[in-house]
Amino acid sequence: MFIHRPIVIANWKMNTSVEEGERLFERIQRDLVEIKNKVDVVICPPATHLSEFKVQSSKFKVGLGCQNIHWEEEGAYTGEISILMVKDCCQYVIVGHSERREYFGETDEIVNKKIKQVLKHKLIPILCIGEKLEQRKQNETKKIVESQLKEGLNNIQYSISNIQSLPIIAYEPVWAIGTGQTPDPLETNKTCKFIREVLTELYNEDIAHRIRILYGGSVNSENVAEFTSREEIDGLLVGGASLDPGEFTRIVKSVTEHTQ
Ligand code: PEP
Repeated sequence: MFIHRPIVIANWKMNTSVEEGERLFERIQRDLVEIKNKVDVVICPPATHLSEFKVQSSKFKVGLGCQNIHWEEEGAYTGEISILMVKDCCQYVIVGHSERREYFGETDEIVNKKIKQVLKHKLIPILCIGEKLEQRKQNETKKIVESQLKEGLNNIQYSISNIQSLPIIAYEPVWAIGTGQTPDPLETNKTCKFIREVLTELYNEDIAHRIRILYGGSVNSENVAEFTSREEIDGLLVGGASLDPGEFTRIVKSVTEHTQ
């Protein structure tokens, strides 16, 4: 069994001015100095903040991620952000977040094109997958995560030669995002185990066990240990709680204590 280094990823979504973001980023980095060697921490601020944060983060070694990119490198796509604009400022890109799927019509096919673009430029994709409430009620969770995984990673080959750009998979039940509701941790662990089985089918056992699988959805300092004490969960994707520096630090500290 491959032992993963835990990772906590903060998704700030469309929040903070550059100035507010800088203050928050500085505070988080300061608070995390003492634990930075036990857990990987990645901050995904709005893309407008990345170049400034890059300068600041080199002092503390917190990773940076972009919340989204376009699938093309350049062209007539007003308002969009290309990988070429951010690749020197970050190491990770979130792809297929449920808010992108829901509000911006992102399909698995688009997600797949974006992942290919991220990999072409040697960054690490964070692929978000998860079922909606209706799908869960119909017992379709496995079917949904399997198809999102297989289509999102369609025609993407991994072998031992390119393991440095293995994706991170974030299992985020859509109904748990930003709602204060969380799924049963035991059941979540089983879903993450199932995700690893699908990855084994897609690649092989070795590759599948090297991929980090995270849980995301209304994580806070009260419920964090319920998830990170499970053997199939290698870390977290945190939205709302990552905007509160005290709360985010408590979450990261708890991960260092409880991750298996
Ligand atoms: C997210 O945006 O990916 C997320 C998990 O949000 P929240 O923690 O607010 O539910």
